[in-house]
Amino acid sequence: MNRPTDDDCIFCSIVAGDIPSHTVYEDDEVLAFLDVNPLAPGHTLVIPRGHYPTFGDAPNTSLSAVFDTIGALTPAVERAVAADASNVGFNNGPASGQEVPHLHGHIIPRFEGDGGRPLHAVGGRPPDLADDEFEEIATSIADEL
Ligand code: 5GP
Ligand code: ZN
Repeated sequence: MNRPTDDDCIFCSIVAGDIPSHTVYEDDEVLAFLDVNPLAPGHTLVIPRGHYPTFGDAPNTSLSAVFDTIGALTPAVERAVAADASNVGFNNGPASGQEVPHLHGHIIPRFEGDGGRPLHAVGGRPPDLADDEFEEIATSIADEL
């Protein structure tokens, strides 16, 4: 199958086998491997084989495969490193902190008292929204689908 690829992308090089990684799982659509700079033991990245920078760029087949794999892998990762919980998330676009422009989900094992923060810690200044503003935003999002 012809998938988009980017010669300058480190994750495309991992998909191609040109850069080694500690593979956790692979199939026709996705690859999962250990993060080279883990935030915790077992920190795993799940990527589509195709080079899609963000959610908006990726076809549904890739997105479904990535999410199915994350769903299956997360409890396995937790068991493997005896984690108490995990954070699962994506940096989606440079302004969110995404450094590798090839879509990837992070599975980050968490341990009681590990000093980490919840996903809510990633936000900027929280807005103070009135009810009608909530409604306007919800409608705008629905209209964009
Ligand atoms: P981002 O900030 O783009 O969401 O996260 C990129 C992640 O990729 C980082 O956690 C970083 O440690 C990891 N990473 C970057 N280069 C490599 C690499 O060559 N191999 C592996 N296994 N992980 C990498
Ligand atoms: Zn890539």
